Amino acid sequence: MSSVRDRFTAAPRGAFADVPFAAVPDAQWNDWRWQQRERLRTIDAFERVVKLSAAERHAFSACSDRFLVAVTPYYAGLIADDPACPIRLQSLPHAAELDDNADELDDPLGEERYMPVPGITHRYPDRVLFYTTHNCPVYCRHCTRKRKVSAAETMPDFQQLELGLKYIEANSAIRDVIVSGGDPLTFSDERLDELLSRLRAIPHVEIIRLGTRNLVTLPQRVTPDFAAMLKAHQPIYVQTHFNHPKECTQEAFDACARLADAGAVISNQMVLLKGINDDVEIVRALNQKLLMMRVRPYYILQADPARGTRHFRTPVETGIEIIRGLRGHSSGLAVPHFVVDGPGGFGKVALVPHYLESSDEGRHTFKNYRGETFEYVDP
Ligand SMILES: *Cc1c(COP(=O)(O)O)cnc(C)c1O
Ligand code: SF4
Repeated sequence: MSSVRDRFTAAPRGAFADVPFAAVPDAQWNDWRWQQRERLRTIDAFERVVKLSAAERHAFSACSDRFLVAVTPYYAGLIADDPACPIRLQSLPHAAELDDNADELDDPLGEERYMPVPGITHRYPDRVLFYTTHNCPVYCRHCTRKRKVSAAETMPDFQQLELGLKYIEANSAIRDVIVSGGDPLTFSDERLDELLSRLRAIPHVEIIRLGTRNLVTLPQRVTPDFAAMLKAHQPIYVQTHFNHPKECTQEAFDACARLADAGAVISNQMVLLKGINDDVEIVRALNQKLLMMRVRPYYILQADPARGTRHFRTPVETGIEIIRGLRGHSSGLAVPHFVVDGPGGFGKVALVPHYLESSDEGRHTFKNYRGETFEYVDP
């Protein structure tokens, strides 16, 4: 019997035949604690697995103290021996990270400005973003929260988390809590269980979202025990961050299956990145794979003007054209919203291609995805 799972392949253990990871026993390779411990953090560690160019070595030394480098062996295994490899571009520093562009900000979304208490961003009436940790298995070079992610001094301590919980408890308008970071799945099951229990005990909290990239960078983290723990706190919405079809491995498929079987609703927030996924064919392939993994494409996010990320950013038009190339051409389920998050803290706006050609006294002329024109007349 052929299953959908068989259409996904396990991640290779590196682009070279002689990589040290080839000899690692499966039990170790599949242990998330091992993956977390063995993360590649130095040039030497990388060079055992990936061939670095002179430019990459230089960028590594120059950038890594500004924004840490860390890549799980699993994710590093997906790095191809190609300077344009989308996994490579997301995980290895580029010299352009050091550029100070006048239009870029440390805190592009004004998150610190909208903080009633440290760690809580309360921008919209009924939901908050809860910054719970500064750790992630892989530090994505395009991260919007570079200013604090990976920096030990931003680690929320017990007291800060307590203040955040108190704030949510005291504000009955909050019905949706986005547990974010960093990546909250870097916590142990016990700590997360405790945090989720506290949130679930608040009568006005209706849904909890977990923002995590572990499904992409460390899918081994989603153990059966973890999924069982989560099941007790439903409804849980997991929001993840796949950016390229290469990230849709069998390991990721299994992690999503465990979460979905535990009742979590999984959605994806892709960040539009130049040279990585600014192409409709790539996005269509990604979204179709995600649907097979029971992940619903939710947002395509225009890259925020975070300092040192200009080399990743695309014109707004690119995102609109990607939506045009999806709508009608593939399942509506594969069509996310394209959003721009207003720099300075204005929140998200969704953009759609122009389908309405003209409107005249209740007579509307549209153009469909095939370029055909049709009319709809108001009652
Ligand atoms: C993106 C975001 C949310 C969630 O927005 P949705 O459109 O509801 O997914 C909430 N708070 C902040 C601060 C955000 O940036
Ligand atoms: S996982 Fe998210 S928070 Fe962590 S480095 Fe990547 S983009 Fe930033």
